[in-house]
Amino acid sequence: IASPVLDEDGNITMWVGSTTDIQSLKEEEQRKNDFISMVSHELKTPLTSINVYLQMLLRKAENTEDQFLKKAYIQSLKQVRNMTDMINGFLNVSRLESGKLHIDKAEFDLSELVEEIKTDYKFQYSSHTVIFSANHSVTVDADRLKLIQVLNNLVGNAVKYSATGTTITISFAQYGHRLRVSVKDEGMGIKTENLNKLFERFYRVEQESIIGGFGIGLYLSAEIIEAHDGKIWVESEFGKGSTFYFEVPLS
Ligand code: ADP
Repeated sequence: IASPVLDEDGNITMWVGSTTDIQSLKEEEQRKNDFISMVSHELKTPLTSINVYLQMLLRKAENTEDQFLKKAYIQSLKQVRNMTDMINGFLNVSRLESGKLHIDKAEFDLSELVEEIKTDYKFQYSSHTVIFSANHSVTVDADRLKLIQVLNNLVGNAVKYSATGTTITISFAQYGHRLRVSVKDEGMGIKTENLNKLFERFYRVEQESIIGGFGIGLYLSAEIIEAHDGKIWVESEFGKGSTFYFEVPLS
């Protein structure tokens, strides 16, 4: 920020500038990020413990005839998982903002990843029919956990923004030297005028605000995919459903 210093005739004799304002803004931003990060870490510890106890209780309840008890534990576990996802989202945003989002690339076999998430999603998203279509002999050079995180975001959204009982199709295909992943749902879809804003930080389509969320999942996903020199996009028809795509280079 610079201000002119004038003489009696109104001529500028010098400019006085300072950068402290920007500096203090940056420091404030950093403090905010550190705070979010600290709170998120603190919240994760009790959640992990609740998760473990709930799983133990669910195992016990499985040996009884009490259907309600089982349902209650399954529902509680789901909510704990949702909360863990949110907290991880916050942690990732604060890491991203402070330039600490680290991409750790390594080669892995896609088929193993698919098998892993298949089992996971069947259990987690029993409310929907989840179909996989995969090319099984592909080696990818990427951050495995981060790609799973992107997939979790996309599939989580597909479940969140579509009706119970509908189908979600997850496809993996090779396009030249790239792996293309798509997640298709039969949900509410997105109006054309909102499509280009979806990947912005904290953006949420207004009428869906009754469904919980913070508008960071897609922003984070886009940052992760960009860090892989890939791309992410969406095609959607309002009222019919959406397909989210991402591509990353193969090894
Ligand atoms: P959140 O779901 O927490 O709001 P996201 O960043 O994951 O945040 O998504 C941003 C917005 O994009 C959502 O609020 C929703 O309006 C819209 N959206 C994302 N995925 C879908 C989908 N599969 N179908 C319809 N709308 C979607």
